[in-house]
Amino acid sequence: MSVFFYNQLQQHFGHRFADANNRYCSPVTVQPLDQPQWVSCNPLLAEQLGIDSQHVASERFLNLISGGDHGTDLKPIALVYSGHQFGVWAGQLGDGRALTLGELAIGDKGELWDLQLKGAGTTPYSRFADGRAVLRSSIREYLGSEAMHGLHIPTTRALCLASSQTPVYREEVETAAVLCRVARSHIRFGSFEHFHYRGETAEVKALADYVIERHFPAWVDDKQRYRLLLENAVVKTAQMIAHWQSVGFCHGVMNTDNMSILGDTLDYGPFAFLDSYDPEFICNHSDSGGRYSFKNQPAVGMWNLNALATAFTSMLESEEIVACLKQYEPEYLTCYRQRMAAKLGLGNYQDSDEQLINELLSLMAKDRVDYSIFFRKLCDFSPEDNSARNHFIHRHQFDDWAKKYSQRLTTQDLDVCQRSAKMRSINPKYVLRNYMAQIAIEKAESGDYGEVERLLKILQSPFEEHPNATEYAGHPPDWAAEIAISCSS
Ligand code: AMP
Ligand code: MG
Repeated sequence: MSVFFYNQLQQHFGHRFADANNRYCSPVTVQPLDQPQWVSCNPLLAEQLGIDSQHVASERFLNLISGGDHGTDLKPIALVYSGHQFGVWAGQLGDGRALTLGELAIGDKGELWDLQLKGAGTTPYSRFADGRAVLRSSIREYLGSEAMHGLHIPTTRALCLASSQTPVYREEVETAAVLCRVARSHIRFGSFEHFHYRGETAEVKALADYVIERHFPAWVDDKQRYRLLLENAVVKTAQMIAHWQSVGFCHGVMNTDNMSILGDTLDYGPFAFLDSYDPEFICNHSDSGGRYSFKNQPAVGMWNLNALATAFTSMLESEEIVACLKQYEPEYLTCYRQRMAAKLGLGNYQDSDEQLINELLSLMAKDRVDYSIFFRKLCDFSPEDNSARNHFIHRHQFDDWAKKYSQRLTTQDLDVCQRSAKMRSINPKYVLRNYMAQIAIEKAESGDYGEVERLLKILQSPFEEHPNATEYAGHPPDWAAEIAISCSS
């Protein structure tokens, strides 16, 4: 594409929010950062978006996202939303530090994707905060979202990341960064709640119509369109969380303002991938009650969908809402069981597999077995190779399980090599453990961005072997246990 891509941005943006003075958003400007510098640009995503990656990594784009370019006609906006935080209605929340630059039309069908800047300065919704994001949390979101995409989990994406010398005051003085985030939609459950709790039912409907028109054009004239939209949110959220559970991803802040209406993973804060398997694991240091612990995530998904459904009450009868919500649990269970069966190399989930899966997870929890390392090791399992047992303290109990597992494997027509290859495409060799992000952050804070770049490449293809990166496929170092990630970002 020869035209600099934000000409393309501007063109599509105009259609949607030409008049930014409406109830959904406010016009905003990118506020200047001191001495901006590229940390990393993501050529794979640029390519998928049909953008020349050299344009992304250019001085011109750096200038734009760091507030130094006043020569464009882009009209950025900040969207308004509210939400429930930790189960409590929190009122209006954002976008306090994100602005949407515009929409890009992608591919033959012209699917629209939003480009957002996170940390580009205050908006009318910033409340008392500074509108900034620190380098530390921006690196985590940059790598976290691309790691999730690498695992084939629906997520927002990260196009590029810039650092600066602008000071930001958190527990200590840090520096500001700006992340260019890309998503099919940044509309949240809390976007609907925002208008519902103000009694603005016409706005709830108009927002639903906007989402339908943009993402589900086939439903535009369907009388059932609001039911279809809610049903889609229920099903996609169930699938997303089943996927999280199967890879050991803990989101950390599943507030309704962090839940995407399309069921994409959104807003990476104190997230973590499990090291040792612990269903009680809480990744958010600020979550003292464990509301968002690993094992609670599926139930919280349901809670959040209830909150979304409440915001749909002006558009749907209660029977319709109940019928939508009832789909969550079966969808979650079907999806989770299939994924876990696939991790074990079982092509088709059978009812009796539930016991096999649960017994394994109980043993793993008892012996605190590393989640990702174990499943990758299990890919080698065969009648001749039961070395996966070495990951357990209670090895004889694992042997008992392995006998049943071997038996089950004989019921399918797949040789060891085929099964092993399949399992390697489902059980990642690499996940973004907190300590890996921490190493990249500490290097970046001293001006060395090489590790961010290196991790990006590994995590974008986490099922590959990457023979030069195997230090990241092993157990985390002891100091990793000391890392405490909170909401501070
Ligand atoms: P979070 O829990 O990080 O999703 O934050 C909740 C909301 O608070 C976000 O939607 C933002 O709009 C807002 N917020 C968080 N940090 C800042 C900040 N530094 N400046 C302005 N708004 C912020
Ligand atoms: Mg958020």
